[in-house]
Amino acid sequence: MTTAPAPEQFVPSGNVAPLKESATIAVSQKARALRAAGRTIIDLGAGEPDFDTPEFIRSAAKRAIDEGATRYTAVEGIAPLREAIARRANERWKGSDRIMPAEVVVSGGSKQSLFNACFSLFGAGDEVLIPTPSWTSYYEMVTLARADVVPVVADAAGGFKATVRELERHATPRTRGLMLNSPSNPTGSVYSPDELRDILALATDRGWWTISDEIYLRIAYGAPAASSLDVAGTRERLVVVSGVAKAFAMTGWRIGWSISPAPLARAMTALQSHTTSNAASVSQFAALAALASPVDADAAVTRMVQQFGRRRDAALAILGTEPRIQVIPPDGAFYLFIRAPGAGRVPEAGSVFAAHLLDHADLAVVPGAAFLTPDWVRVSYAAEQSQVEEAMRRVVAAYRLLA
Ligand code: PLP
Repeated sequence: MTTAPAPEQFVPSGNVAPLKESATIAVSQKARALRAAGRTIIDLGAGEPDFDTPEFIRSAAKRAIDEGATRYTAVEGIAPLREAIARRANERWKGSDRIMPAEVVVSGGSKQSLFNACFSLFGAGDEVLIPTPSWTSYYEMVTLARADVVPVVADAAGGFKATVRELERHATPRTRGLMLNSPSNPTGSVYSPDELRDILALATDRGWWTISDEIYLRIAYGAPAASSLDVAGTRERLVVVSGVAKAFAMTGWRIGWSISPAPLARAMTALQSHTTSNAASVSQFAALAALASPVDADAAVTRMVQQFGRRRDAALAILGTEPRIQVIPPDGAFYLFIRAPGAGRVPEAGSVFAAHLLDHADLAVVPGAAFLTPDWVRVSYAAEQSQVEEAMRRVVAAYRLLA
């Protein structure tokens, strides 16, 4: 009789050995475990809207099931969805060429599109500029592509937004690409149209590929956030990635997409054809409803963004009662990036603060080390307003204790 190998016999391959566990998922898991043990934890670690998917989208998905949308689709997605994505993108793109459905690849979430793009564009010996702090998975995706991560840490006073000067300072002849994310996770910073235009012009000038992650584009307070498509002079080396997860409260449906030059779209389709094939068919019809019904969609998005805005304002007001707390006022997304007490003095101050909040204040937040900024913590306000307010009171109390 053969016996299964003991778990400790598993040795990770060179492909995955450098991977780090997702800190954001680790925080949520720990919060869940503490809850299961009877503690009342407020979990502001996850980057997930707390709303239900709007009703008109859920109905479209139920109809799709009843009408038989249960089979494989084209790897790159159903034609009407790719057409709707191209149509919406053309409303922004000012260039003389039109964005064609052939340039759109639908995937199982913007995360998959970002991975497909990194894996198809970058390889050993390439350097990729990542404005830092950035979403934790960019670092891992670039590493999985065997390229070198080059973090570009900009000024906290400017919301950590990368500038042309900082990007130039980190560029080398090996630089091949740049990850952009506006509105940003984890800072909530939003690049102005001019800032975005200047960075894209630099990338074009240097021949870099830009991967513009616009998953939070519709979640902005004040002025609408600009897309790279609004301001880019050319799309020759531009990949725009987006999806339905955040704006439409559709995280579980797993639909994202990329818009890129057709040869790259074909390469990403080939990659996807050998890994996951098409995104879930029913989810594609749900996403189609979200994109093809602008009146219903705009009303739903506006309602959710207004609620996020109220929570943001309430959270900032409570944090403002402790003048020593340094927080980046977010113009978009749904995160507060807060400098931990003892930053600059205590090593890994963000991790110390996050551990204190979890152990002594029953509050889960993500340590900034996950985003290569160990003096900070990220707090999501995608939770009920009363919970957000209570959480902020706990942050203030803990800050005063540790500062
Ligand atoms: N990009 C950023 C910046 C994110 O914060 C997230 C999710 O947290 C994603 C992409 C992934 O989104 P999706 O659910 O579409 O894969």
